[in-house]
Order: sequence, then structure tokens, then C-alpha cells
Amino acid sequence: MDRTYNVYIDNGLFVVANLLNIKIENITIENLKENTGLFADKIYEFITCNKYSQIGGMSFFNSAYSQPAFRNNRKEKIKEQYDIIMSNTGEDEYCCLCGKKHIKYNKDKEYIKKLNRAFIINGVADSFYNHSNNLQTINVCPSCILLGMLSTLNMRKSGYIVLYNSESDDFMYDLTNERQIQNLNDIVSDLKFDDKAKNTVNLQDEILHFILEKTIHKNNLKVYKFSNGKTEFYDEKFLKTSDLELFNDIYVEDLLHEFNEYYLFNNLLQGNLKYIYTSKLIDFKKDELKCSKELIKFLEGRLNRLSKELNEIIKKISEGISDINNKDCLLELKSVSSYNKFIELILRWVEIYKNKQEKDLITSEEFDLLTNRMKYVSIKNKMIFELILNK
Ligand SMILES: [Zn+2]
Repeated sequence: MDRTYNVYIDNGLFVVANLLNIKIENITIENLKENTGLFADKIYEFITCNKYSQIGGMSFFNSAYSQPAFRNNRKEKIKEQYDIIMSNTGEDEYCCLCGKKHIKYNKDKEYIKKLNRAFIINGVADSFYNHSNNLQTINVCPSCILLGMLSTLNMRKSGYIVLYNSESDDFMYDLTNERQIQNLNDIVSDLKFDDKAKNTVNLQDEILHFILEKTIHKNNLKVYKFSNGKTEFYDEKFLKTSDLELFNDIYVEDLLHEFNEYYLFNNLLQGNLKYIYTSKLIDFKKDELKCSKELIKFLEGRLNRLSKELNEIIKKISEGISDINNKDCLLELKSVSSYNKFIELILRWVEIYKNKQEKDLITSEEFDLLTNRMKYVSIKNKMIFELILNK
């Protein structure tokens, strides 16, 4: 089977590959049909283990994982649900998630009767199941539904449920293997529920562990947080290769402790680190750094890559402005909220400088380079950096 890059289906695929000890491309529909008993056993052990007991309800709410009616014989009910799902395999309709023609047109009575929200993975439930009154229009194939439900074995909790999806197959095999070994250990030792710290993963620690221990450096990583339980929640974040490299280097440069003091990992995850680090690390009112020079220097260099020529111009204008004793220049620059306001400020500085020094601060060519709209955020950051270090 092929990856779909749907987080639930992909994780399910690697879980099956792990349990059956085969490669994902060799997994067949028959493999899925024949092993519903094994899958049900594994899921049952997992969701009845103290450490992971909340995951069943938060992932597939109202499924056999959590329905009170299935409290007895839950393991059998899970298998039954899997079998009913797989019984709708056919060759009539295309699946909207994997694109394969794997759906039976005339659905079995039992399938229609028992098909409910619980069978459908989160993304589908949100996108069109909720808006549809006709259950037969759900064109997700049995394999995708089952794989989605099996992704549970790769889930962890960090407030909400956490799942990862990487472009790298090697990483996914590796992560899935690690998860299954840990599942097994936890099921055997069965930690008590009140050991809360051990029931939840720290995203930052985990991602650092991926970077340091696994083959993830050159691949983008998606981080999903969600809950299908009573409070529904869905969120996905995208960590680019460059974000992972940056995080790795922060660790290598021994800056992680300080990076964490300002909760900057969260900004890295949100994708807004470049826009926010100066206001977190500089006290603009006091005109001084809150953090070490090393940290801001590192971030400045990594987040704002500009040409040598542009760097020289920024240096020149920052020194000029410092020379004429413009006390509020840092605050003025910080409060610039748009590209147009940035240009207004530069023009004002140029004028003030000319009045005081009776010469030009920059040439018109330099002004053109400095007011590059595409690079405006980096230019502004770099100027802030120069001004704070030059004061
Ligand atoms: Zn499918």
C-alpha cells in the first residue's frame, strides 16, 4: 500500500508494517482482513493499559474503543467492528483519501446499520461527514478507515493527543518501532494512572530526541495535536528542515536552556519565531538585552540571512542614527508595524541626520536596497540588533 500523507492512515500503515514485520508497500487488503484479531488484541491491550486509557476515548470517541455498551467483551467488539469495516471492501467506488477503487457500491445492511462517526477518522468527520445526512456518500475505503483506527498505537498524550508524520519512511518505521516497544513495556508494567508525568510526552523533548537520535534532519515533520472526545480539537504544525536544523544547533551551541527560558520553542512550532524573538529578548524601554549576547546573535544570524552588501548598509545607517544621539530610535523601530511605516521611519531618520550632520546618511541606491519589501522583516530585525549592540 502507498502512503497517503494523511496522518492517521500513514501512522496506521506503519503500525501494521511493524506488527506484521513487513514493508508498507507489501501490505495488502488481505493482510488487513486476516489480522483483525491481532489488531484488536493490540488495541485492547493498549487502551486498557492505565497509562494510555484516555487515548481510546480521545481518538475514536464512540467506537468500540470507548463505548460503555462494549465494556464487556470489548476485545471481541473491537474485532467485530474491524471485520464489519473490512467487509465493505469492493471495487466499485474510489476512496477520497487513498484514491484506490476499493469501496463496494451495495453496502451490507450490517455495515450501513453500524457505520457511524466512530468508524471515520477525524479529518473526514470534520470535513464532510458532519454535513452529510446520507451515510452511503462517505467515500473512504475500508482499508483507510481501519488503518486510521490503528494509528491509535502510535498516539501519545500531551494535553491533547499527539501524532507525527514525516516525509521520511525511515523515520516513521523507527518511530513506530520505538512506540510499539514502549507500548509493550508499559502494558507489562502497567503504570498507575496517577503517575501523570509519565502519561504525557513533552513535545520539545521528544522532537529533540528525534533530531539527535533518528534520521530526521533532512525531512520536514508535521506535528498533530487533536482530540475527538467531548471537547473536539484539531491542530497541525509544520516544522521545516531548516527549523529542525536550527533547533539542533541551539542544542549544540548550548543555548537550549536560555532558549527555553523565553518559551521560544513554542514560537518555532508556531512558525513565528522570526517575527517575535526581538520583542521577547530585548527590553525596548530600558534599551537593553534581556538574554545573553550569544543567544540573540545566534538567532539574528540564522533567522535573517541577508547579503553582505545589505548588512553593510544596515550597519552604516544604525551607526549613523546612534551617532546623532537619537535616544528613541530602538523604540521607534520596534513600533513599526508595516512595511510602509518602516519606509516612513527610514525617511525621517535620513532627514534628521541630514539636518544635524549636513551630509547624507545613505545614497539613493542604498535606500532602494534597504527598502526591499520581501526582506523587510529581516532588515528590521538586523537593524534592531545593530542598534542594541551599538548603543
Ligand atoms: Zn482509501
